[in-house]
Amino acid sequence: MAQTFRKARTTKLSLQQYVDGILGGERSVLARAITLVESILPKDQYLAEDLLAAVLPKTGKARRVGITGVPGAGKSTFIDALGMHLIQDCREKVAVLSVDPSSPISGGSILGDRTRMERLSVDQSAFIRTSPARGHLGGVGRRTRETILLCEAAGYQNILVETIGVGQSETAVRSMTDFFLLIMLAGAGDELQGIKRGILEMIDCMVINKADGDNVAKAETARACYANALHLFPATPDGWTPPVLTISSLTGKGIAEVWRIVLEHRTRLEANGYLATRRKQQALEWMRELISDGLTQLFQATPAVAARLPLLEDAVRNNKLTPAAAARSLLMTLVEKGF
Ligand code: GDP
Repeated sequence: MAQTFRKARTTKLSLQQYVDGILGGERSVLARAITLVESILPKDQYLAEDLLAAVLPKTGKARRVGITGVPGAGKSTFIDALGMHLIQDCREKVAVLSVDPSSPISGGSILGDRTRMERLSVDQSAFIRTSPARGHLGGVGRRTRETILLCEAAGYQNILVETIGVGQSETAVRSMTDFFLLIMLAGAGDELQGIKRGILEMIDCMVINKADGDNVAKAETARACYANALHLFPATPDGWTPPVLTISSLTGKGIAEVWRIVLEHRTRLEANGYLATRRKQQALEWMRELISDGLTQLFQATPAVAARLPLLEDAVRNNKLTPAAAARSLLMTLVEKGF
């Protein structure tokens, strides 16, 4: 039995099987399709491109929500609570894409393998995927945008993209979602929470989590303080002022309210045209990202570059060549090869 299962998993699917499985909402096919788009093998990449083109007409309708916050802020507890609200109260499906920014130094994973979303992980209406960032864009999966599209085609009306609030990952997640939510804690200052000021300018909503038990008054003070701070920012062109509210992911307080805000934001941005503007901007950013990815791959796959790289690295290490000169020389190799 186990052997049959293993065999079945290794059988390659055809393009049509992928398309039918995804449009039919089959979670196992969706999972395999994501593995396909994450593959760096050229033949997988061609198939992935065809697959994305085939499902594209069924995409674009979902609510794409980015969620960030430092470790311990309560992201997984919040997503579990919000996801269950969507499934049980709104009768909708939810996909959670968590990007695991494995530490480039220790190689260890930050999110870990433990089941972080207890209820969602066993619910048939939820799909959870954790993808390694592999150093890409400071902590966002190389193919998160494509994964969003596949989940939309598979019928998930709500896509939650989770990222840890460090490095460049917030900018990247902000650039692929329609609504960006920051989860904070009361009591610790911005610096302590590792939140950079720039993030506050990107968010559409802030929640102060763990507003329960003895923490309620402290959370309310933090809420008022952040609401004041956000008010001082210049108005954004989309005309939206990010609300700040206290919630408890543990008791469920404020979870439905957060979702009401997400929906209100969408209605507002659809009406004033900014949703379309944001999506167009995102399409351009995506294209630029793919160009830069493609160039890097091309560069690394060029034999003349691979042959010269160790020599030039050695020269830089020994101060015989500046990094700029070495980089220019390698890039010229590409030009000489006619790329
Ligand atoms: P993450 O690292 O941001 O995903 O944070 P977790 O969701 O794993 O939460 C970190 C810890 O805070 C866990 O022990 C949670 O049980 C706890 N926690 C999360 N949300 C709340 C909340 O609303 N109230 C309280 N009291 N604890 C919470």
